[in-house]
Amino acid sequence: MLLHALIPASRANGPGLRSVIVFQGCTLTCRSCWNPQSHPFRGIEKPVDAIAHEVLRAHMEHSLEGVTFSGGEPMQQANSLLGLMLSLRRQAPQLSFGMFSGYAEHELAKGQYWIWGDGSSEQHRKRLWQEIRGSLDFAILGRFNQAQPSNMPLRTSRNQVLRLFNHRYSPADFSEQLTEVSIKEGGQAEVTGFPTLGLPW
Ligand code: SF4
Repeated sequence: MLLHALIPASRANGPGLRSVIVFQGCTLTCRSCWNPQSHPFRGIEKPVDAIAHEVLRAHMEHSLEGVTFSGGEPMQQANSLLGLMLSLRRQAPQLSFGMFSGYAEHELAKGQYWIWGDGSSEQHRKRLWQEIRGSLDFAILGRFNQAQPSNMPLRTSRNQVLRLFNHRYSPADFSEQLTEVSIKEGGQAEVTGFPTLGLPW
């Protein structure tokens, strides 16, 4: 799987304390996307099991509420995403799962999305989405549209939809937009969340 970043513990990406797995690669070209470095399909390729291992280590350290899949575009690596979810669910069934995807739900439901390095049929992609949706607790779906700015929880444009796939969460569990800046070893800064006022550099 092509990985952009793994943030072990964040409060800005869904209910409670969550690991955030940022997928590398996105072809959706939303204008003014704030993370263009995550667009090319090149960079660090890591086995799904190694990523699951890092999340489980973060869970032991921080007692996580769940994991949020972000990007880049997680659904453009849907086979790896499903493998990762199944591995984590097997080893830590209490973790909840959330996802940010630029695809709208009707596109996913019809299999109308593209998967990196995969020539599978629309039928296969439909089934894949059904399996992924069956493991998700929530998702934020839809392209970022800079003409429709929003300060709703987890949504930066008004066309985006917060979908709850079961009864684990209600809309009240999603807090206002937050921005987190973490300073990593070596002094490198990592930003996650919603820097609606722009980046601090
Ligand atoms: S889907 Fe997300 S990562 Fe991709 S271009 Fe749109 S905002 Fe950027």
